Amino acid sequence: MSAGAASAADWHRPSSLAEALAIRSRAGSAVVAIAGCTDLMVGWNAGARRLPPVLDLSALDELAAIEVGPDAVTIGAAASCARIATHPVIAARLGMLAASARQTGSVAIQNRATLGGNIMNASPAADNPPVLLAYGARVTLASVRGSRTVAYEGFHTGYKRTLAEVDELLVSVTVPFPASDASIHYRKVGTRRSQAISKVAMAAVIATTVDGAGRQVRAARFGFASVGPVPLSAPTLSAALMGERLVAVDRDRVEHALATDLSPVDDIRSTAAYRRQVAVNLVMQAIAEAG
Ligand SMILES: Cc1cc2nc3c(=O)[nH]c(=O)nc-3n(C[C@H](O)[C@H](O)[C@H](O)COP(=O)(O)OP(=O)(O)OC[C@H]3O[C@@H](n4cnc5c(N)ncnc54)[C@H](O)[C@@H]3O)c2cc1C
Repeated sequence: MSAGAASAADWHRPSSLAEALAIRSRAGSAVVAIAGCTDLMVGWNAGARRLPPVLDLSALDELAAIEVGPDAVTIGAAASCARIATHPVIAARLGMLAASARQTGSVAIQNRATLGGNIMNASPAADNPPVLLAYGARVTLASVRGSRTVAYEGFHTGYKRTLAEVDELLVSVTVPFPASDASIHYRKVGTRRSQAISKVAMAAVIATTVDGAGRQVRAARFGFASVGPVPLSAPTLSAALMGERLVAVDRDRVEHALATDLSPVDDIRSTAAYRRQVAVNLVMQAIAEAG
């Protein structure tokens, strides 16, 4: 069964954000926002007879901009993974984000897939969210009522649910630069080296202070994919590592903290037990590299 075409009357393609928000305000959940459509098209092809009315964001240049500031890069929700992966400042200063964008499906998918779509599709296995969590990103939402910026940590409130209200659009994602001496570590573990949905993915930013006795953690942030119903940070682990000497961090301690932070399940791609072990391995690797 294939998806039938939406009529022209059901296909809204505004040329300004204000116009898009007005449509969203009037129609609410009766219109579906589409960006690159790489997630939505799969669902429609899988069974829907007709496309629902559509709010097509592809003509909104203001949603596609990538702006470099002194402390952060602000990426429009409709910027493609291909642009993010090849952006010189993102590559140089937010290397994990360039890497995760490059891991998001094939090159053809990356050309269409947007960062906003990756976040709003709200898959716990999506590739960019762990990196955004580790960098401490913020997301900006807008509606006709105004705009608000919130921490990305906590944005996913449950499986496929977010803090976004029905009349809001995701406008941009602001990703602060990590401290220049911070150690960054990103790894996606899947069945293949490319074009695989992750079994586990982890991103880490670990900042340390050095003295005669070695490196001591002054801040550590993590992001994980595929180990819970939403992309997860690891607040218990971050708190446990604060002030610790890297050489003194043992595996049991990490395992204990992650038992609280992560809630993996058995599914078609892996088992909960494997995911727990790999998550601990990835954290231990990140700690070893930071030392
Ligand atoms: C073959 C294939 C391989 C893939 N591989 C990967 C992979 O390796 N890793 C990975 O993470 N993903 C992968 N994906 C999933 C998908 O490509 C990404 O999630 C992509 O980033 C989605 O972006 P999009 O612009 O296409 O979203 P769309 O399909 O246009 O939208 C996705 C959701 O986000 C909502 N939305 C989009 N933009 C906004 C906005 N600005 N405000 C509010 N809501 C919005 C839409 O309403 C919809 O609910 C793959 C998909 C396919 C088909």
